[in-house]
Amino acid sequence: MASSGSAQVVTHPSASEEPGPGALTDGFHLLIDALKMNGIENIYCVPGIPITDLGRMAQAEGMRVISFRHEQHAGHAAAIAGFLSKKPGICLTVSAPGFLNGLTSLANATTNCFPMILISGSSEREIVDLQQGDYEEMDQLAIAKPLCKAAYRVLHANDIGIAVARAIRAAVSGRPGGVYLDVPAQLLGQTMDEVEGQKSLVEVIDPAPAQIPIGDAVARALDLLKTAKRPLIILGKGAAYAQADEEVRNFVKKSGIPYLPMSMAKGLLPDTHEQCASAARSLVLKQADVVVMVGARLNWLLSHGKGKSWGEPHSTKFIQIDIEPREMDSNVEIAAPLVGDIGSCVSALSEAMGDAWPLPPAEWTDAVRQKKDANIAKMAPKLLSNSLPMNFHAALGVLKQIVAERPDALVVNEGANTLDLARGIIDMSKPRKRLDVGTWGIMGIGMGFAVGGAVETGQPVLAIEGDSAFGFSGMEVETICRYQLPVCIVIFNNNGIYRGTDVNPSGGGDVATTVFVKDARYDQMMEAFGGVGYYATTPEELKRAVNEAMDSGKPCLVNAVIDEAAGTESGNIGKLNPQSALSKA
Ligand code: ADP
Ligand code: MG
Repeated sequence: MASSGSAQVVTHPSASEEPGPGALTDGFHLLIDALKMNGIENIYCVPGIPITDLGRMAQAEGMRVISFRHEQHAGHAAAIAGFLSKKPGICLTVSAPGFLNGLTSLANATTNCFPMILISGSSEREIVDLQQGDYEEMDQLAIAKPLCKAAYRVLHANDIGIAVARAIRAAVSGRPGGVYLDVPAQLLGQTMDEVEGQKSLVEVIDPAPAQIPIGDAVARALDLLKTAKRPLIILGKGAAYAQADEEVRNFVKKSGIPYLPMSMAKGLLPDTHEQCASAARSLVLKQADVVVMVGARLNWLLSHGKGKSWGEPHSTKFIQIDIEPREMDSNVEIAAPLVGDIGSCVSALSEAMGDAWPLPPAEWTDAVRQKKDANIAKMAPKLLSNSLPMNFHAALGVLKQIVAERPDALVVNEGANTLDLARGIIDMSKPRKRLDVGTWGIMGIGMGFAVGGAVETGQPVLAIEGDSAFGFSGMEVETICRYQLPVCIVIFNNNGIYRGTDVNPSGGGDVATTVFVKDARYDQMMEAFGGVGYYATTPEELKRAVNEAMDSGKPCLVNAVIDEAAGTESGNIGKLNPQSALSKA
């Protein structure tokens, strides 16, 4: 049985050795063994009391332990690892303040349906529960609960195997999300018999079982789709997460229906595909009569499925594919809910469509194509602008070309204007290559996603960052340099939030709240840690710098000087800013 004595010597045999009689193991090793047994290879962490040794021992046991400067970014790295791998990404933090820092990313992962497990050390239960003021005292389990899918605490070493199994299942089954696992300091030091300990570990069988839609639901969906005059498919990041790429492509191609990828679903089919309706977004949302939602939610990003953007009073009918039954009717009525995993659902649709499924009316697909061609033609000259200082379009025209030439690179993207414009301008050609601010539109994912993306995939990363967005995670350039990751950061530096030209309304004193230090040299931040910095003021300089950086596979930061007057308030979502009632009166 478990004991909490730390005087005994723990003789943890390596995996190949058979434990001898009387050999002991402890909480540290059981936790590491439980993760490894379930195919988890990486931990993203910030060391400290009481988990410093856990990181050391995990490294000694062959895990990759990536150590950050702030827990939020370790958490974002774990979350994106979950999105990319369909296995829960692991973030490890210290108690109270470290735990709280990690909680932002746990909540963000849950909101985005990314599987991750936040494991935090915690203080002595007896003291915490009597509120006697322990070192970093906090009831972490209670605080985590409302912010994630599930939260567990383990008190006995022989429960570690079951606890990790529960955490993994909770993170990846059904709608994926974040899980909290509370590990009190005492637990890690508890010892138990090595053989019993190994027996207590659980290898999770079929952690995210297929969920097959019933035939009636498939028939109902196709009956509705058959009546459509102006059908549309919307692909969301759930479809990208599902890794059912072939099945999704087959369904879209077979249907012949125009499709709209949500930002992190870009590349499931190449954005240059003839059915892609991204460049005719407003038109298709307004005019579609039947919409098939594939792993996308009708939340604020899609104007909740109603209102002017959807051409109301005309009413749209929805077919929705989602693994979460409660997603149905969350914003508007869903005429044909299809509950199941994406792969099973789209395959069932394709199969039931048979060989003689009619293509959508040419009148509709022609209208979409014309609108799209016109918008693309309108955009083209802007991307070639040579005006100085550079504007967003000119800089993005350069990056568009570079991304097209490097289809395997991951693109991380955050900012306001830098985000909105890059999302529209930069085409993706492969799935799960675009990682961005997601459901919340959160700033601060940049360096965490860049590190997680590079570590999980081994592919180069191009992080396209607004100067403000970069600031939330900028210190992690040291992490990128320390691990020598192939990350090229491009900062769209327009001297501030939205733009750099605002003035203090009082006419004096401090600078305006949205304004930063003029002409800041972010490139020198990278140089401080041994990476390569570039300073680019023209599209030509930008192109040379980014290509050189991406070729080098080394940590690089390109400071792209953008017109400080360019940029609109809050980018595309300025309408979400409240208006002062007084100034209107
Ligand atoms: P987007 O922001 O791209 O529109 P959302 O995050 O809003 O995407 O929606 C993703 C949806 O995908 C969620 O409702 C989630 O339940 C669903 N989902 C995630 N994984 C799967 C899966 N494997 N099968 C089916 N649905 C899934
Ligand atoms: Mg800016």
